[in-house]
Amino acid sequence: MRSVSVFGATGSIGESTFDLLMRQGGAQAYRTVALTGGRNVARLAEQAKALKAEVAVIADDALLPDLKAALQGSGTVAAAGQNALLEAADRPVDWIMSGIVGAAGLAPGFRALSHGGTLALANKESLVTAGPLLMAEARAHGARILPVDSEHSAVFQALVGEEMEAVEAITITASGGAFRDWPLERLATATVAEASTHPNWAMGQRITIDSASMFNKALEIIETHEFFGIEPERIEVLVHPESLVHALVGFRDGGVIGHLGAPDMRHAIGYALNWPERNHLPVSRLNLAKIGQLSFSAPDPARYPALRLAREVMAAGGLSGAAFNASKEAALDAFIDGRIGFTKMADVVEDVLERLSRDTGLGKPATSLDMVLDADRTARRMTVEVIKDMQRT
Ligand code: NAD
Ligand code: MG
Repeated sequence: MRSVSVFGATGSIGESTFDLLMRQGGAQAYRTVALTGGRNVARLAEQAKALKAEVAVIADDALLPDLKAALQGSGTVAAAGQNALLEAADRPVDWIMSGIVGAAGLAPGFRALSHGGTLALANKESLVTAGPLLMAEARAHGARILPVDSEHSAVFQALVGEEMEAVEAITITASGGAFRDWPLERLATATVAEASTHPNWAMGQRITIDSASMFNKALEIIETHEFFGIEPERIEVLVHPESLVHALVGFRDGGVIGHLGAPDMRHAIGYALNWPERNHLPVSRLNLAKIGQLSFSAPDPARYPALRLAREVMAAGGLSGAAFNASKEAALDAFIDGRIGFTKMADVVEDVLERLSRDTGLGKPATSLDMVLDADRTARRMTVEVIKDMQRT
C-alpha cells in the first residue's frame, strides 16, 4: 500500500488531489499519513475521515480545539501550528503533495525531502525562493521532485526519453489572464473581483490574480530555470488564450514536442501521482476538430512588467528569487486589502528589489534555508514600507 501526505489539502490543488485519491481507491488503496489545511477545519476533518488519515494539521494554532472536536472518535490525531506542520512533514511517506500556497510551503516540502520519497511540487514558490537548495536536498537524500505546475508537468512529459543537451528552448504558455484584452489605461483601476476570475482555469484566488498580472508566469519562468537547469535566454513565454497547449520543447534538430490537454489540474496531479505509469484520469478529452483554431502571440511587455522582473531576478541570482517572491506576496496582500491598485504591484516589487540590491546585495548564494527565510522577511518588511511611502505621497 502506498503511503501519501497532502499539504494544503483544503485548497484548490489539495481538493483535486483528494478527488483523485478517492477515485483511485481512497483509504483502501492508500495509507494517508498527514493532511494539512490553513483554516478550514470542517473540510480538513471531512477529508481526514474519508481517507482515515493518521494526523490532520491545521496551520492556525487557535483552531486546535475545533479540529479536535471535529475529529473526535475518528482515529485521526489533531495537531496545529507551524511545528506541527514540520512534524507532519517528518513522517516518511512514498508520495507527498506540496500544495500550500506561497513561501509558507517551502519549509514543510524541504523537510519532507530529507526522508526520500517523491515530492509532487505544486508549490512553485519553493523553487523560486530556494531552487538550488531544494534540488540539492533531493539529490542528497535520494528523493524525487515531480513538477505539478501544468506547464512544468508538460515539459517533463515532453522530455521523457530525451537528453537535456538536445534541448534548444522551452516555451511555457500563458492564457494572458483576466485582463488580456483590456485597454492598458484601464488596468490601473482593475478591482480585486475582476482580477480574481480566470478565463480558463479554476484555481485559488492568489494564483488567479497572479495570472492576471503574469506574476504567476514570472514565477514559472524561474521555476523552469531551476527545475530543468536551462539558461534563462532559452526559456520563452507565449500567450495562448485557449490554454490547451501547456508547453513546447524545441530540440536542436528543429523538432518541437508540445503537450496538449484540457485545462484541468487533475491531469498534472494525476500524472505525478501515478508516475511512471499513466492511469485513467477524469479530465475532459480534446476535440480539436470542434475547437478548430488555436492562437498564439508574444506577451506585451508594457502589459506584463512582471516578466521583465523575472529576467532581472534570474540575472542577479542568489537571494533575489526569495526577495522577489516575498515582495510579490506582500504586494498582492496590499492589492487584495485595497491598499494599492493592480498596476502598483509591479512598481512596488521593482522598487523593493532595487532598494534591496543597493542596500544588501541580493546576488549572494543561499547556503541555508534560514538565509532564504531571512531574505523573505526583509523583503516583506520593505514592501510594507514602500507601500506606506507611496500612500503618503
Ligand atoms: P489555495 O489558496 O486554493 O490553497 C492553498 C492551501 O494552503 C490551502 O489548503 C490553505 O489552507 C493552505 N495554506 C494557506 N496559507 C497557509 C499557511 N500560511 N500555512 C499553511 N497552510 C496554508 O491555493 P492553490 O491554488 O491550491 O495553490 C497551491 C499551490 O499550487 C500554489 O503554490 C500555486 O502557485 C500552485 N499551483 C496551483 C494551481 C491551481 O490550479 N490552483 C496550478 C499550478 C500551481
Ligand atoms: Mg502554471
